[in-house]
Amino acid sequence: MSNIIQLLPDHVANQIAAGEVVQRPASVVKELMENSIDAGATSVKLILKDAGKTLIQVIDNGKGMSPTDAALSFERHATSKISHAKDLFNLNTKGFRGEALASIAAIAQVKLKTKQETQELGTYIKIEGSKITTQEPVSFGKGTSIAVKNLFYNIPARRNFLKSDTIETRHIVDEFQRIALAHPDITFLLHHNNNEIYHLKESNLRKRIVNIFGTKMNEKLVPISEQTDIVSVKGFIAKPAFAKKKRGEQFFFVNNRFIKSSYLNHAVVNAFEGLLDHGAHPSYFLYLEVPTDSIDINIHPTKTEIKFDNEKALYAILRATVKHSLGQYSIAPVLDFDRDANLDTPYAYNRKEVTKTPPIAVDPSFNPFKISETKSSTSGNSFTPRTSTPKNNSYQHSFTKEQGSWEALYSSVASETQQEQLFTSEKENNTSKSFQIQKKYILSSIKSGVVLIHQSQAHQRILYENFLENITVKEASSQQLLFPVSISFSPSDIETICSIKADLESAGFLFKEIGKDNLSIEGIPTSITESQISLILEQLLDDIKMEVPDASFSHFDVMAKSFAKSLAIKTGVPLTTREQDNLVNNLFSCKEPTVSPFGKPTFKTLTLQEIDGIFNR
Ligand code: ADP
Ligand code: MG
Repeated sequence: MSNIIQLLPDHVANQIAAGEVVQRPASVVKELMENSIDAGATSVKLILKDAGKTLIQVIDNGKGMSPTDAALSFERHATSKISHAKDLFNLNTKGFRGEALASIAAIAQVKLKTKQETQELGTYIKIEGSKITTQEPVSFGKGTSIAVKNLFYNIPARRNFLKSDTIETRHIVDEFQRIALAHPDITFLLHHNNNEIYHLKESNLRKRIVNIFGTKMNEKLVPISEQTDIVSVKGFIAKPAFAKKKRGEQFFFVNNRFIKSSYLNHAVVNAFEGLLDHGAHPSYFLYLEVPTDSIDINIHPTKTEIKFDNEKALYAILRATVKHSLGQYSIAPVLDFDRDANLDTPYAYNRKEVTKTPPIAVDPSFNPFKISETKSSTSGNSFTPRTSTPKNNSYQHSFTKEQGSWEALYSSVASETQQEQLFTSEKENNTSKSFQIQKKYILSSIKSGVVLIHQSQAHQRILYENFLENITVKEASSQQLLFPVSISFSPSDIETICSIKADLESAGFLFKEIGKDNLSIEGIPTSITESQISLILEQLLDDIKMEVPDASFSHFDVMAKSFAKSLAIKTGVPLTTREQDNLVNNLFSCKEPTVSPFGKPTFKTLTLQEIDGIFNR
């Protein structure tokens, strides 16, 4: 019998390993930048061409490599960072597997220049498909430059698998930001296609965050700090008022390494309990220091997930610390006697003397559930706690039989506008064929029976088709704004906007000026209003970050979806009968009325026959 097992040649083994280490240009960026930091660099420059697909170059001023090390560095399992298994439990460096350079050299054309301080001349190495083709002395300053060209040039399938430049750039910027946030004391530069996107000078953490996410961030940040035996926590949380509709900026660093942890995220979100609107996500930048032997960073190949020894205790400490900070800065109500009162008063009032305590009268007999008393207390002069104002319909939800009849409820607590709406819609109902249910569905009678429409999903469909038609078929019409609107964004978001500027313009946006971290808009699509601009753009940026599937990837499609999502009538919004009728009519003049742009059903019909069937069984 013949033997069939053989050892894989190195370059094949390296290509296989590369599949794990290098998924996309951003993975290369991460590995190279981390190597620079491990080499003690104080300045790291990242240069990209075509979202890293053509070129990724990292230049640092770190300790460099000797000629022998330079050649060895591309060997698999070649690392200077650990030499014993026990070192694995005491890691202070980013890398340790010795796989990155070997993997990268297997799937790209790499040029390395490196020099140690003590050397006269540096080393130049060219390597392609794992083979060193050139090695010679070169004159070079102290440090290392690694240029990675034509990623996946020898694996077309992987190359084709890469996403659009906008998305790949987004991934790179994510990695860049994580590393830059972990090391505010290091200078970082990012150039893309000869544009400078970031020039982050060495600074403190607060400045670093602001430099990355835009000046607007400064007022949002609340510092946080706690020291215990098992962990020290520092960093910033963003005030709840600035919470984002989508994920927001959420960063955990453990021993200066970015990690993802839904468990710790839960602790933070939990601390914000009651302060966030439904569906809002807090932003945070939290830095944890734990003893290196109490974590295991080895459980995930790309090393963004780690295992803690004291997970439960960490959770509790983190939650308490965030809560404390929110309280200290009087964002959450808390009894805190040695709070600095200056923090609470707007600047102009700081020096104003307190003349007398404003009178506050509390009605001790107030009971929000006793309707007649609510009435008498509001008609009198006594102070009614704000929460009792029947501003919304929460009364209807908490309402039970024992507390009175519906008529009583409405006559005493419903606001006048609500009553008005109630009556007008009743009047209109006489002529209309539709009816709103639970502020969520519209029931409309049609010839063959009835149709039940999901108001939000249906409206998304209408808006989506409208936008697409405006953008692609018609010349999009734009409305000039009386005064240009200026909006701040992070430099990376500005970069994303620049990359889709032409598309935005065909959608009707007119840009007056695009700065480093803000832009001014002088025209908007006719279908949106001025107050919706920033909502729409933020949603769009989020959607681009979220990676819309590629096959059908077109910016117009993403844009139309994004616009539809941000502008569609939401569940919970009462509609007049005229609005209901419009929605029904517009939905059925759509090309594809049955599904929302996100593939959810928009309506369901019940034929008379089906209805009859229900009752004639
Ligand atoms: P690891 O980082 O896991 O050790 P890498 O393949 O990323 O493995 O790098 C291999 C070795 O090459 C490193 O251990 C380090 O000694 C050396 N090296 C890589 N990049 C640099 C750099 N920018 N400056 C100095 N040395 C470097
Ligand atoms: Mg490394």
